[in-house]
Amino acid sequence: MSDAIDRLIAPFPRTRLLSWATPVEALPRLGDRLGIDLRVKRDDLTGIAFGGNKVRKLEFYLGQARHEGADTLLITGAVQSNFVRVAAACAARLGMDCHVQLEERVPGQGDTYRSSGNVLLDDLLGATRYSYPVGEDEAGADARLHEIAADLTHRGRRPYVIPLSPGHPPLGSLGYLVCAAELMAQGALDVDTIVLGSGSGLTHSGLLFGLRTLGWRGRVVGICVRRAAAAQAERLLRHCERLAALLQVAVPVGPGDIEVHDDVLAPGYGQVNDPVADAMRLAARLDGMLVDPVYTARALAGLIACAADGRIAAGSRALFLHTGGLPALFAYETDLRSRVLNG
Ligand SMILES: *Cc1c(COP(=O)(O)O)cnc(C)c1O
Repeated sequence: MSDAIDRLIAPFPRTRLLSWATPVEALPRLGDRLGIDLRVKRDDLTGIAFGGNKVRKLEFYLGQARHEGADTLLITGAVQSNFVRVAAACAARLGMDCHVQLEERVPGQGDTYRSSGNVLLDDLLGATRYSYPVGEDEAGADARLHEIAADLTHRGRRPYVIPLSPGHPPLGSLGYLVCAAELMAQGALDVDTIVLGSGSGLTHSGLLFGLRTLGWRGRVVGICVRRAAAAQAERLLRHCERLAALLQVAVPVGPGDIEVHDDVLAPGYGQVNDPVADAMRLAARLDGMLVDPVYTARALAGLIACAADGRIAAGSRALFLHTGGLPALFAYETDLRSRVLNG
């Protein structure tokens, strides 16, 4: 691990949840199809309960929670949230209770969406579930979580709330400073472009911040999975500023470093469109790689669109960050059968 990143994260309590560096592999047949040299960083293999990018974030949230003596973890997310599922698993491993709030963020979904995939796993992992009727009210969802926390405190518990809305210290991004250093140690930064899904933006901002801290000057391309490009770029810049304040360093990222594309976002978060369906089918049938319908298929669809129109140049080297999310495949069985398998 790089000394520069080591020094930056040293002051923050951390609970180790990953026991290995995730592999970097070639995607030879998909790369051939797109006319680029394509590799994948397998952060779907972070180890616990189907893994994903949230394991890296939770090393720091749970580090802080344990530092504060918490015995109960609270988190909010979409019904098929991967963050919620991984938080429930990590809480179990640490002997903590976990209370999860699931927001109705995706319109028009049926019973399987509400009972299978991540929801089934939340129940198996022993989380206490609440539901929240709106999906586009981050501050409201957080406020409701704090009410639950206050009630738990009243009953003698010591809750720790993982915040959803921006404006909090971006502890989760610290996990992607670690990932930047891991990529460098693996010799995986001999690429021109890194492509990833950009949702809350903590993964994107942490990785970009870490890579610039290490002096890597290549492109980090975020594919919007939740909100339009202008709003996402603004949010990423704010995250980087808050991260710099947290780490007490100058911001190593300027507006020119932030690149986001939203051309595969419509009709919106968690909804399968044709590019998403095509990306799922291509990845599976060319390289045996599974991507999830909410995040990684959309991110890969964005990469494919960029390779198709030259935003990623023919013959260049690109690294796709696979951030996990695979349990949602089963919750989206209806969409998969009607849109992906019949394509
Ligand atoms: C949460 C999530 C993302 C987005 O990460 P952010 O840090 O919220 O931007 C991407 N992929 C998967 C599978 C996720 O669960």
